Amino acid sequence: MSLLVVGSLALDTVETPFGSVQDALGGSAMYISTVASYFVTPVRMVGVVGGDFPKSAIEFLESRHVDTEGLQIIEKEKTFRWGGRYHYDLNARDTLFTELNVFEKFNPVIPESYKSSTYVCLGNIDPVLQRRVVEQLHKPRLVVGDTMNFWIDRRYEELKKTLERMDILIINDSEARLLAQEPNLIRASRKILKMGPKVIIIKKGEHGALLFTEKTFFSAPAFPLENIYDPTGAGDTFAGGFIGWIARTDDLSEENLRRAVIYGSTLASFCVERFSLERFKELSYLEIQDRFHEFRRLTNFDDLTLS
Ligand code: AMP
Repeated sequence: MSLLVVGSLALDTVETPFGSVQDALGGSAMYISTVASYFVTPVRMVGVVGGDFPKSAIEFLESRHVDTEGLQIIEKEKTFRWGGRYHYDLNARDTLFTELNVFEKFNPVIPESYKSSTYVCLGNIDPVLQRRVVEQLHKPRLVVGDTMNFWIDRRYEELKKTLERMDILIINDSEARLLAQEPNLIRASRKILKMGPKVIIIKKGEHGALLFTEKTFFSAPAFPLENIYDPTGAGDTFAGGFIGWIARTDDLSEENLRRAVIYGSTLASFCVERFSLERFKELSYLEIQDRFHEFRRLTNFDDLTLS
């Protein structure tokens, strides 16, 4: 099955208690495409970068069989940049700066060969751009989307229109509260389900993820790790693992959505082990499978009723 990914490609400056990086590779489309490419190839990518975007990053995407025909390179402008700082509680981060640069004037143009994509993942970018992408497509089977506080604060009304075009929303806990204006996550998810998506997945950082449909509920832990260096991109990585698995299996049953959540969590656990996308430069499919099976053991228990 074919998968189209749109989102940001970024140069990130990140500080964690364990180190820092400057102008490291990042962005929602960068993480989602890289990760989904473990499950389905080629991943079709739509995005924009400036002349300062490293050639080695494009070569890396190509080595992962990501199709970059939909990537615009605006030589005279600068790539999107984001800066963030994490504290000892890695679930909370401060955004230090967001420089939209090439995204200020970006108009996503979907190549003809991408228009019939079956699966679509709208990575975190301006919701107006997310919607422009969907409007150019010929009836995709499933549209999955993500957003963040930056856009909820600045583009609330536009985001609501974009949510009507999404089948599944993947969002983190604080953003779900912000979007729904509701502190309780169960009530927040019910409110968001009324905004358009039929399924909502709430990511809770090191506390796992929740999957809600109108009638069902699934809770998955995060994979316990001793060494976490950089949580940047974990949410996008989750989305990439989730949609990658769905596109590979072409199965939208509840059981398979649950499996996809576990794949998302499995991939996110690799992401945080190194800075930026470093871990994916060496990660093998076999390692993903091993950790997925370990996840199964971790969450498995017998339902023995004591008499
Ligand atoms: P995550 O940690 O999964 O929430 O995603 C972090 C990535 O999101 C970083 O690589 C940033 O470059 C990217 N990012 C941060 N802010 C924005 C924004 N406002 N729009 C698009 N991408 C962003």
